[in-house]
Amino acid sequence: MILLDNISLKPFNTFHIDVSARYFCEFNSTEDVKQVLSEKKFTDTPILVLGGGSNLLFTKNYDGLVLKNTLKGISLDKEDADYYYVKAGSGEVWNDFVMYCLSHNYAGVENMSLIPGSVGAGPLQNIGAYGVELKDVFYELEALHIKEGTLKKFSNAECKFGYRESVFKQELKGQFIITSVTFRMSKRPLLKTSYGAIEKELDAMGVKERNIKAISQAVINIRTGKLPDPAKIGNAGSFFKNPEISGETFQKLKQRYPGMVAYPLDNGRVKLAAGWIIEMCGWKGKTIGDAGVHRDQALVLVNYGKASGREIYDLSREILDSVNQKFGLTLEREVNVY
Ligand code: FAD
Ligand code: NAP
Repeated sequence: MILLDNISLKPFNTFHIDVSARYFCEFNSTEDVKQVLSEKKFTDTPILVLGGGSNLLFTKNYDGLVLKNTLKGISLDKEDADYYYVKAGSGEVWNDFVMYCLSHNYAGVENMSLIPGSVGAGPLQNIGAYGVELKDVFYELEALHIKEGTLKKFSNAECKFGYRESVFKQELKGQFIITSVTFRMSKRPLLKTSYGAIEKELDAMGVKERNIKAISQAVINIRTGKLPDPAKIGNAGSFFKNPEISGETFQKLKQRYPGMVAYPLDNGRVKLAAGWIIEMCGWKGKTIGDAGVHRDQALVLVNYGKASGREIYDLSREILDSVNQKFGLTLEREVNVY
């Protein structure tokens, strides 16, 4: 394990923000990371665990230790009549894990194909796409307590998963490094094609028999046709969360904005499409310097070249203000800001 000083983080975040880390170190075993954390000079140093850097925005140099996760390994832990229990090292690339599952006919993650980033960051915001969330296939995870150096297991309930939320973004924020995640993969696939675009794409592909591989391919086709590729244009996916509001507030808004895009939830609340709201405020396709709002998807903020993290953050603040003024709604950032 090599400890580096003053390293540029530009290659390690999908916004391509050029800031530096005071200390930087890659780890590929729990023992490695325990050892580095036990060093005296890091006792009071801020620690940042880095996966693929696809859900964060650096607004300044990181004056602490960045731990780049390369913990690998995927294995079948056990199986019962209905499920395979598959354990993945947290530094595995999420989409590699999805492809592994497809090749073994383990069902449940196909709708989440091509989400960027690492397995270990998945539980943090309970990643989700096309009607499936990580919590739907989650069994347990193991995490290292940064200060105490001890390993702890977390069950589904203990993770307190919510919409793009978990205990690791709330009360346990910054306290644990997730080292592995075990998934409960179905032996009998329950295919989910309720997000309209999937059915449409399957038809366009000429797929007659729906199966997990076809769904994965449909999702990949939709995503590559719609979302900006971070390798070409810096971005971190959706910058804001879709807000959930009461049915009553929705009815009032709907009277003023009949075209409002909304989805009813099981609990009587309503989820609004934040992309539509931002578009209605006139932001779609706008740029301020090199920071911009993507021309096809207003939920995605982009770095067209040399934008600083601060400029992207300031743009996000302007968007929040105008949404609040026009709709009386408070959007929340999904991206982790440092
Ligand atoms: P990073 O950006 O490296 O880290 C994110 C946060 O998690 C940081 O606070 C970091 O410290 C923490 N963290 C990372 N690893 C660990 C660990 N092992 N232990 C503890 N904390 C950790 N998200 C969705 O939910 N659905 C989507 O469909 C989706 N689509 C996207 C499309 C694009 C083009 C992009 C760029 C992003 C998209 N995202 C989506 C967001 C992002 O891919 C996910 O949030 C992903 O899980 C981030 O993984 P990462 O490894 O890159 O995390
Ligand atoms: P979209 O299909 O244009 O839909 C816009 C929004 O409406 C989505 O955010 C989605 O909410 C919601 N939605 C659409 N159909 C729905 C249905 N049948 N039932 C309930 N809600 C529905 O969205 P998109 O931007 O192309 O993204 C497609 C999927 O990929 C979404 O699930 C989205 O979350 C995911 N995605 C996430 C990120 C990220 O960074 N978090 C980035 C890109 C894509 P949900 O977001 O709640 O699903």
